[in-house]
Amino acid sequence: MLVSGDDLLQVANKNSFAIPAFNISDWAMCQGVFEISEAERSPLIVAIHPDELSFIGTALLPAIIERAHRSSVPVAIHLDHGATIDQVLTAIQAGFTSCMLDGSMLSFEDNVAITKRAVDVAHAVGLSVEGELGTIGKMDEEAEDGTEDIIYTVPADAVKFIEQTGVDSLAIAIGTSHGIYPDWLKPELKLELLKEIKAAVSVPLVLHGGSNNPDKEIGQAAATGINKINISSDIKASYHQEMRRVLGDPGVREPNTIQPPAVAAMQATAKHKIHLFGSNGKADLY
Ligand SMILES: [Zn+2]
Repeated sequence: MLVSGDDLLQVANKNSFAIPAFNISDWAMCQGVFEISEAERSPLIVAIHPDELSFIGTALLPAIIERAHRSSVPVAIHLDHGATIDQVLTAIQAGFTSCMLDGSMLSFEDNVAITKRAVDVAHAVGLSVEGELGTIGKMDEEAEDGTEDIIYTVPADAVKFIEQTGVDSLAIAIGTSHGIYPDWLKPELKLELLKEIKAAVSVPLVLHGGSNNPDKEIGQAAATGINKINISSDIKASYHQEMRRVLGDPGVREPNTIQPPAVAAMQATAKHKIHLFGSNGKADLY
């Protein structure tokens, strides 16, 4: 069934687990994340970044919506990192059920102002809105936005931000980065800060840049109050690594020969994340 982002995340918040938001940018990946979520009985957030949306086009949305309606698990379709009200309006028109307005690179006041506008238009038509406070890092050129230095979320600011904007969920900065970490860098999550923020606010919390962090820390974050974890780089790396291996044979040509092994490799990574976040079996709570 197709549901709003808030319908999904409230249950995760109450039951202390995290739902994976898998970024997809082609139909094979999209079907792959549906299938693995259904096999694991996990709620699913199909995440599409504006760059991915301009690549696949909004014409694919009716197919994704139809697939969500037929799914045996609850599914939200989420605009990842919306940066403008125009992008939020495009998401509304295309049939998304959830969107993010990321004003985290702006001043606190400007972030509040643009996020509040997004909440006003999205709530009018039943979409949930995720805001972001604090900035996460950026590891490589292929990664989405981020800054070189992480600006950690201040708990008191999070309280104020939620009050002033009316967001349904909040992405916080506690030590993750977009992209894949180089070998020499050991990322570390500030779980004490997460506990402080969780105690101060009631909305579900979101972790971006969850690819490539140590499993133990991510698992703890999911059990300690994070309710949505974005996974983009990790599943795409698995998908394309396997595709490169398959394409090593110059004789292969058909997409239905090349893509299935790549999808299976992506699904193995997705399944690992689902279990790490405690989301397997949780579709039965809905
Ligand atoms: Zn992100």
